Amino acid sequence: METCNHCKVGFVTAAANRNHCYRDYCSRYCFEAEENNIQQVNNKWPVQWVTCDVCETPESVKLDYYAHTRKNGRFCSTSCYQLLNSGRRNYRQFQYMLPLQIYQDRWFTAKELAQYNHSRMVASNSAAAIASSLRKWVSRGVITKDQDSNSYNYCRHNPLASEMIKYI
Ligand SMILES: [Zn+2]
Ligand SMILES: [Zn+2]
Repeated sequence: METCNHCKVGFVTAAANRNHCYRDYCSRYCFEAEENNIQQVNNKWPVQWVTCDVCETPESVKLDYYAHTRKNGRFCSTSCYQLLNSGRRNYRQFQYMLPLQIYQDRWFTAKELAQYNHSRMVASNSAAAIASSLRKWVSRGVITKDQDSNSYNYCRHNPLASEMIKYI
């Protein structure tokens, strides 16, 4: 059990959760809340509204601390989610690459991306599987790979998913 840096509640990262990318935080809610210095109001965590990763509509995604299914939300609607989730393995590849968007100033090796995805992958072949899935996104110019350090970066200012859907 880890303790969330923001809300101080104990949490686990498991396959069924969507909080893989937010290391040291129980949820996207708390990751964003820390960044935006959001505090409790009358002992309750206020709702946050964030931009949809697919259609880029500002304040269209509700991040509710209490509703478990939504607190890691990235999409304003089922149709936006389905745009990314159509086609073979696109959504999975989005999840592999998501740390590149969240920690934009960092470069990640395939092995590090595998660590962020540890609960949904078989560890022994995960880095190689990620490296091979990312190849096409590098060649499309969606993400950048540094050949010397073998590491990846996302340097655009719009959401990763909004770039991916141009090719899906
Ligand atoms: Zn938290
Ligand atoms: Zn949307």
